Amino acid sequence: MNLNSLAEARRAAASPLFADLAGDIGASFEFFPPKTEKMEAQLWDTFRTLEPLAPRFVSVTYGAGGSTRERTHATVARIAAESNVPPAAHLTCVEASRGEIDDVARAYWDAGVRHIVALRGDMPGGAPYQPHPDGYANAIELVAGLKKIAAFDISVAAYPEVHPDSDCVQSDLDNLKRKMDAGANRAITQFFFAPESFLRFRDAAAAAGIDAPIIPGILPVSNVSQTRRMADMCGTVIPAWMVSLFDGLDDHPAARQLVSATIAAEMCRRLYAGGVRDFHFYTLNRAELSYAICHLLGMRPVQPAAEKAA
Ligand code: FAD
Repeated sequence: MNLNSLAEARRAAASPLFADLAGDIGASFEFFPPKTEKMEAQLWDTFRTLEPLAPRFVSVTYGAGGSTRERTHATVARIAAESNVPPAAHLTCVEASRGEIDDVARAYWDAGVRHIVALRGDMPGGAPYQPHPDGYANAIELVAGLKKIAAFDISVAAYPEVHPDSDCVQSDLDNLKRKMDAGANRAITQFFFAPESFLRFRDAAAAAGIDAPIIPGILPVSNVSQTRRMADMCGTVIPAWMVSLFDGLDDHPAARQLVSATIAAEMCRRLYAGGVRDFHFYTLNRAELSYAICHLLGMRPVQPAAEKAA
């Protein structure tokens, strides 16, 4: 199917509730590397469910200090080998020398992986960030280092509600600009729940001379207390309205899923109204919520979940 007919199919599929969406939406999905065979089976089911939505890419996270190095590589390499969806491998600088990181990057290139999500990472146990003595000091240096190794397509992280290590909005933006100047092709944001904070951030980034795409990271929430722990670590605000929407649903998991999909789809609709066309979903290795939200946004399967042609 060519791009025009793909857009046409999605336009025709848009529900009346979201009838103002033009059907030109692109999605990407983030997974974490599985620890057990059971988790691997679940991840692969999730991938095969989302694959027919023709994501722009799928990415696989990297654990602190390279703790998931082999699992991240195995997952990304399998996606590259067995599907037509472009995979992106996350890579962090924490507790590794430049040589070690460069070796990981070369192994990705050799496995046909062209897209890296280049990150500084965090110290284990939440300690203040300390660069490895022979390592890349931050994501800016990592991006520059990767560009010397090969012509990687590089995504970096961005923070609509400001990174906790940053002194102010402006220095966070300066940092993002320097990552772009070092060779990054796009930014993917930390999750957030106020569409206006993303739109403000995107506009401030444009005013700061950042013209690469900034893709909002969407976390469908079905458990507020779990999300609060993650939000506290990365400085994301959980609005009072969201807490109250989940109030009283502790014993109603199915209702929580429905509320979650509604909140996330509404947020995407508002972002769409603000001009956003690409969305990155934090799937937590579960397909249903991301699939439902994409469906509400008018996305429909466009290819069978077939094995990659030999
Ligand atoms: P950097 O951009 O290097 O810096 C982080 C912040 O520190 C900057 O925003 C800046 O404000 C501040 N800062 C840095 N240097 C200076 C300075 N000299 N002066 C002032 N301020 C400064 N973590 C993982 O461990 N594995 C993953 O797979 C992973 N995937 C992620 C994917 C996305 C899309 C996002 C948004 C985050 C991800 N993270 C992951 C989390 C990330 O590693 C942390 O947020 C980490 O704290 C910062 O990484 P960074 O690449 O943004 O760092």
